Amino acid sequence: MQFNLNINTPSDSESIIYDSLIIGAGPAGVSAAVYLKRKGHTIAIISDEEGGQVATTSSVENYPGFASISGFDLTQSFMQQLNKLAVTHINSRVNGITKNDLFEVTLDSGQVLQSHTVLYAAGATRRKLGAPGEAQFAGRGVAYCSICDGPFFADRDVIVVGGGNSAVESVIDLAKIARHVTLVHRSTLKADQVAIDQMMKLENVTIRLSTVIDEIRGDQLVKDVILRDTSNDTTEEMPIDGIFIDIGSLPRSELAGQLVELNGRKEIVVDALGKTDLKGFYAAGDVTDEKYKQIVVAAGRGASAALAISDELNQRK
Ligand SMILES: Cc1cc2nc3c(=O)[nH]c(=O)nc-3n(C[C@H](O)[C@H](O)[C@H](O)COP(=O)(O)OP(=O)(O)OC[C@H]3O[C@@H](n4cnc5c(N)ncnc54)[C@H](O)[C@@H]3O)c2cc1C
Repeated sequence: MQFNLNINTPSDSESIIYDSLIIGAGPAGVSAAVYLKRKGHTIAIISDEEGGQVATTSSVENYPGFASISGFDLTQSFMQQLNKLAVTHINSRVNGITKNDLFEVTLDSGQVLQSHTVLYAAGATRRKLGAPGEAQFAGRGVAYCSICDGPFFADRDVIVVGGGNSAVESVIDLAKIARHVTLVHRSTLKADQVAIDQMMKLENVTIRLSTVIDEIRGDQLVKDVILRDTSNDTTEEMPIDGIFIDIGSLPRSELAGQLVELNGRKEIVVDALGKTDLKGFYAAGDVTDEKYKQIVVAAGRGASAALAISDELNQRK
């Protein structure tokens, strides 16, 4: 998505040694940039998509200060704040990060930027189902976050796709809002038994195992899905208002994996201040092992990491 921004790019980047380079311009990276710039540090923020996942969100109703704001408008506010603070903003993909005495961050163009510290806030992408109609109806009935979008489906019939803890928790949350929730999963449930037991007690929940979604259909909004029972290969049409796809997310940690510890989900392991096991390399937001993947959480973690970076930079001086 393109924003009409005054992007401040460095004219001769190679001669600058930055105090900190921030990779990612989602809420974690933007928040960190605001804090570090206001502390007087020499920084740049680098991203291949301004706003990150926020920019793809139709409506945000759980970020303080905004009863309801579109993801596009919230991203624009983030970017305007960076512009107002004259933050150097580099619109590029990062292709590599190495550490010698300094960190070296390689841009798509081949240009190498140097810094004393790095804040890695590259976020995540939601795992997609790959069903026909999924992309067409994203934000128009197809959703990826029950905490965020559940309230839009009050008294409606919805499906949750997935079989892990996150999907089962989504069912439990949505059952309080929606008229009826159907959990659809291709095999057996992998969630914790205690969560499954809680879900089983809910009267407005149906569980369909060994079932996949062959197609999502509608016109302006989703109207129905084609379900296939894989145990006998029969299909049926099911009218539905919303589909929550909850089959996990993929952290964009690929550039950090050689440098710092990742957990089994390939998330960067951080402490409460965003520190990793490599000195000077911090991470925040959805790319980390932070449990709650939300805008306000990412922004808060970005701020904490920025303040910790500022302390580290001040101690070095
Ligand atoms: C459809 C949807 C709806 C959502 N709705 C809500 C909601 O209503 N409320 C809520 O609180 N949360 C919501 N979320 C979750 C929320 O968007 C995320 O938790 C939040 O955006 C995470 O912020 P982040 O800064 O960690 O990462 P991201 O937002 O993912 O941003 C990552 C940034 O890193 C950049 N990047 C990654 N790799 C590279 C690279 N190699 N080179 C350069 N740049 C790179 C990206 O371009 C991007 O700028 C939603 C998520 C989705 C997918």
